Amino acid sequence: MNRQKEQSRRTIEDTLNRLYLKKSSAPKAGYWVLLLIYLVTSAATSATASSGADVKFAGFIVPAYIFAGVLSSLANICIILMAVFYEKLGLITSLVLIGLQLPMIISGIVMRNNITSLPGVFGDVLAIIAVLFIYFNKKKMSDYEKVLRSQAVTDILTGLPNWFACTELIDELVRREERFAVVTIDINGFKSINDAMGFEAGNRVLIEISSKWKTIADSGETGTMDFIARLNGDQFSLVVRKFDSEDEVIHTIRRYESAMNEQINNIGYDFYISASFGYAICPDDAKDMDSVISYSDMAMHEIKREGSDEHILRFTQEMLKNDHTLEFEGKIRSAIDNDGVFFMLQPQFDMSHKLRGFEALARMRDEDGSIISPGLFIPVAEKVGLVDKIDFIVFKKSAAFVGNLIRQYDLDITLSINVSVRHLMKKGFLEEMRRHLEESGFPANQLEVEITESVMIESLEKATGYIDVLREMGVQIAIDDFGTGYSSLSYLNSIPANLLKIDKSFIDGINSSEKAKLYIAAIISLGHIMGYEVISEGVEENDQLETLREIGCDYIQGYIWGKPLPMEDVEKLVSEG
Ligand code: C2E
Ligand code: CA
Ligand code: CA
Repeated sequence: MNRQKEQSRRTIEDTLNRLYLKKSSAPKAGYWVLLLIYLVTSAATSATASSGADVKFAGFIVPAYIFAGVLSSLANICIILMAVFYEKLGLITSLVLIGLQLPMIISGIVMRNNITSLPGVFGDVLAIIAVLFIYFNKKKMSDYEKVLRSQAVTDILTGLPNWFACTELIDELVRREERFAVVTIDINGFKSINDAMGFEAGNRVLIEISSKWKTIADSGETGTMDFIARLNGDQFSLVVRKFDSEDEVIHTIRRYESAMNEQINNIGYDFYISASFGYAICPDDAKDMDSVISYSDMAMHEIKREGSDEHILRFTQEMLKNDHTLEFEGKIRSAIDNDGVFFMLQPQFDMSHKLRGFEALARMRDEDGSIISPGLFIPVAEKVGLVDKIDFIVFKKSAAFVGNLIRQYDLDITLSINVSVRHLMKKGFLEEMRRHLEESGFPANQLEVEITESVMIESLEKATGYIDVLREMGVQIAIDDFGTGYSSLSYLNSIPANLLKIDKSFIDGINSSEKAKLYIAAIISLGHIMGYEVISEGVEENDQLETLREIGCDYIQGYIWGKPLPMEDVEKLVSEG
């Protein structure tokens, strides 16, 4: 286990060294040359000093004491250079040499009364001081460097390696042609923790999870060699090495997942959280660093989008085909700019087939005139922050059209629009909506805003404040896709809505078993008890309609009585009564 930890540490350390190491890379040969010069000059010094004879050098007569002084200074310079370039080895060699030399000089002075060697003693003492000074200063510098290096690769909040360290490691593993898996981890619903309990609590959650994960990685208990890093916010990356089969990778990921099931309790509440894990294996799925990271990211987003109980998914080539983000972003922008966003209206009826109103559904015309379905462009618009614009265009256009119909035919119908909660909570949105309602003269009490339950629950407290403002304006509220999100009936109590929309996925299975039917019946009863009316979405078959009638549903919206219609068909429908 310790060996694993050590190996893991060494890989990162090696990488960092490659990056940051400014350590002297003076060649070893230099050390021996300096040592040799030192020995020769020292021997010559001592010979000159003991003979006392003047030396003939380049045509000049040099007195013995001057010649000895020059040679001994040269020897001391060698010693100092050793300390400068060869750190610990240089220091030890220097001290040993001076330590051997000094007693010899002193004994020469004492025994032969040779005071011409006295400057040599001072020279040696100065050399010792210089060598020690240089060594300790250099050590201090390299300690600073170590701290700087580790800060550059450490996430300050959690103490885990950061994004930079992680990409460096992956880069290194690719270079070494090692087989490894990159797992992108994203905590589910982390935003709601921050919203509900504040950043402080959110941070403590991150710290606690990080510490659990770090313990697992360091202990080597998974059997694979793991490296965990925090990328940003609530995103982490796990690099898994030394495995023989994919099963081992999954087994390792499960261990990290199960650590989250242990209670998080140091934030004043006891609660459980989960995360989504997407992974890609190098070189099986991707050959280079950028692809393996982006593929694991794609797999993570895919499993998050699925919203199932399984939280682990491997990248597949299929996902590349599904990643239309870039392609659609351009299309959406150009549709917004060129009036390519429009709407269709799907009718809603009560159980006696009387028209209740219409839901406005966004459509987008591509440059070639073909129509793109919202199932494709809405998720992308949400991702790139353009859904707000679409929502408002659909609201303005459909309110203008339906407002006219209401006036012309004196209709008591509702227009439902879809609004993303992000939009609702955006500064100025409610004001803009109020202004538009006043200007267009659309009756506020005939407007209904559909909000998706899963999104709303994520930031419940904040959202309810905004919903209250809408209700004060007279606008009605519907909870869309009920049952698909956080499915928390208990939350319904705190949401000031009028209508509950049961998601199509429930209606699809309504007659598959008695249990399914009873479950939907229970939702309807509960909705009624809480004061909501209930509409079922996606009703296609007669027997579904019959069952819904039997269990007391108030309204239906589905292909059985009406698909989303263009404006002409809507006008025909209302004019024919
Ligand atoms: P949604 O809000 O749940 O809308 C209902 C979807 O179910 C619509 O799909 C509708 O055409 C479809 N549907 C209704 N009845 C039936 C049925 O009997 N059978 C089947 N198979 N489908 C039925 P659409 O128009 O493709 O919209 C898909 C989703 O896109 C919407 O789901 C909504 O989440 C989103 N969306 C659509 N328009 C907007 C918009 O203006 N703003 C926002 N933010 N989202 C929108
Ligand atoms: Ca809707
Ligand atoms: Ca819906």
